[in-house]
Amino acid sequence: MTTVFIISAPSGSGKSTLVSRLMNEVENLTFSVSYTTRKPRGAEIDGEAYRFIERDEFEARIAKGEFLEYAEVFGNYYGTHQSALHLAENEGQDLVLDIDVQGAAQLKKRIPDAVTIFILAPSREILEQRLRYRSQDSDEVIRRRLADAAREIQDYRLYDYVLVNEELELATETLKSVVRAERVKRVRIEEKIRPILDTFSQALGV
Ligand code: ADP
Ligand code: 5GP
Repeated sequence: MTTVFIISAPSGSGKSTLVSRLMNEVENLTFSVSYTTRKPRGAEIDGEAYRFIERDEFEARIAKGEFLEYAEVFGNYYGTHQSALHLAENEGQDLVLDIDVQGAAQLKKRIPDAVTIFILAPSREILEQRLRYRSQDSDEVIRRRLADAAREIQDYRLYDYVLVNEELELATETLKSVVRAERVKRVRIEEKIRPILDTFSQALGV
């Protein structure tokens, strides 16, 4: 059974850092590579963080119902292709999605068992420091991201888990613990339990 982990956060909260540590340190996880109409930034390579496509192709794929969810974020389309889930299911992996709040709400409706995690910086001041330290964005973009963050964090109530990314090592361990704990929920391991129980019933001659 594939568990879908949906992770959202305002920009600069440390989501990419934490997701990359999670993917490297926890086994049997597949990252869902989204489709987007935004242009590649810096050294981004098609097929790694995103599949970069044109707007008309994205709209044609929407019409064909290819996306599990999609949304328009900062003027560009972003969407999760159905094949990401099928691939994870076929390979017996859990799936990690880095998507925005609108996409998370759509997916939670479609896959109620999906586990949703919201990442927060400890304060606005620290979020601003991290955005400046990352030095990827202009002053104007940083101001916009901070204003967006103030709005986006209001949606934290839609999520199962809220992780405050204060100390990086601790936040990483907490995120890994969420994934590991979800994996031993009874409903998720019924298939694993049955053969174990069988070994006991054989001994009882049942
Ligand atoms: P996001 O993907 O949410 O936009 P990033 O992962 O790019 O955020 O993190 C923003 C910046 O903050 C990066 O420079 C990253 O190295 C730094 N960072 C992330 N988590 C922490 C943390 N717990 N403490 C200090 N700096 C952090
Ligand atoms: P960026 O362009 O900075 O990589 O991402 C912008 C926003 O789009 C982030 O909040 C990210 O989580 C979100 N996003 C990325 N992929 C998807 C997707 O497939 N669906 C949705 N709904 N949001 C996405």
